[in-house]
Amino acid sequence: MKPLISISLLTVSFIILSFSPANFIATSVKKVVIDIGHGGKDPGTIGVSNTMEKDVAFKVATQLGSILEIQIPDLIRRYTRYTDDLIPLAERARIANKEGADLFISIHANASANPDIMGTETYIAGLSSTKESIETAMRENQAIAHEKNKKIYQDFNANNNIDFIMAANRHNIIRQKSLQMAQLVEYNFGTRTINRNSRGVKSADFIVLYKTAMPSVLVEIGYLSNSEEEKYLNSEEGIYETASAIYRAIRDYKEYIEK
Ligand SMILES: [Zn+2]
Repeated sequence: MKPLISISLLTVSFIILSFSPANFIATSVKKVVIDIGHGGKDPGTIGVSNTMEKDVAFKVATQLGSILEIQIPDLIRRYTRYTDDLIPLAERARIANKEGADLFISIHANASANPDIMGTETYIAGLSSTKESIETAMRENQAIAHEKNKKIYQDFNANNNIDFIMAANRHNIIRQKSLQMAQLVEYNFGTRTINRNSRGVKSADFIVLYKTAMPSVLVEIGYLSNSEEEKYLNSEEGIYETASAIYRAIRDYKEYIEK
């Protein structure tokens, strides 16, 4: 079905964030918001064997929550969705801002026209540097096609990099911490998790990352367009190992901030 709206033509509004200094000068990590990508009538990408991204993201996110509950019980955990419902991108960021979270982790799965591509990528907000990262961000931003109220994005022009440059400047401190977190996620995928191919840390124009007022990363946990990786992400082992790598990154990031 043709998307209701094309992100490349979309003029959408950028909400100026009112920062609470505690969010980015904080020297402790007390609360994490785990953003479960897509939901409801937005399935996200659909794998070669029909795995829906929204379901894989949900399983990994809730597994991550369970590990955190045991390993770091004093870390408060919140999710952007607890059910299979569509949550607008702006609302996901608003939840994190309202919660005063110290860290925001958005969980997604990737897709490519090339079925051989597999591996993990962790994104921070920034200008897209490669064709692939532009495509990934555009695909993820398409989630707003399913949203009813598009007016909230009105002044934001996805083709206008000035919006992103301004946001990037404002986010300078947050950006450094986001980068640290992203590197830890990929380090843990690449070195600590069996058989994962880390494709590294990247930056791209993800709407959801620009609206958060705290260090934020978007983790693409693997390619559902690769049948081997789709199978892995559907397995108990795959879900656990993926969640475990993200958990270790949170643990290491918390130590880094609090040292
Ligand atoms: Zn996604």
